[in-house]
Amino acid sequence: MPNNTSHNKTYSIVPGPKMGMVTPDFLEAIARVARRHNVPLLKFTEAQRLAFIGQTPEETELIWQELGHSTGPKKPVGIHYIKACPGKTWCKYGVQDSLSLGAKIEGALLNLALPAKTKVGISGCSMNCCEGFIRDIGIFGRKNGWTLVFGGNGAGRPRFGDIISEDLTDEQLLIVMEKALKYYSAHARKRERTARFMDRTPLSALQNALAAS
Ligand code: SF4
Repeated sequence: MPNNTSHNKTYSIVPGPKMGMVTPDFLEAIARVARRHNVPLLKFTEAQRLAFIGQTPEETELIWQELGHSTGPKKPVGIHYIKACPGKTWCKYGVQDSLSLGAKIEGALLNLALPAKTKVGISGCSMNCCEGFIRDIGIFGRKNGWTLVFGGNGAGRPRFGDIISEDLTDEQLLIVMEKALKYYSAHARKRERTARFMDRTPLSALQNALAAS
């Protein structure tokens, strides 16, 4: 990821962690490598990840290697990140296990090729701390299961996502989510985010596709 600054051109890398969960070993490894390479800035991103900012391309490769990767992650355009709250295991308000669901989504759908980057937010209750209504895919828990929201965006042209299914088990959610993403993939323009796609797509068309497939 290049950063153009007024005085030079530098790069940033984002080595994780998954869903904002860190261990002391992870933090020690990050600190060790950052010190060794005089990384000018470490930044927690909006997506619960940690970014090294301001490297040369050569340093970028070395840092990836020292953190245990042969190079930066390479995957098709698709799920950009999965953001999840602590869920019922760790939060007294949680009614569903958001971290476990996040791991299942990652295992099943992370490498699905999509027209544009797709952000996922999972919350363990309807307080929606991971802001599911402004994610491409928003998921939040209620007593009877998961609610699935599609087509949200919180950037320059915000869009409130549409609820496309409710009361889902983990397994049902994976099936409906995959169907929705495949419908999006088949009908969206290249680089068209889900929010812009849903601006021009009747919700009924998506719902009919989910019911038919
Ligand atoms: S969404 Fe609910 S379960 Fe998740 S952190 Fe917020 S209050 Fe807790």
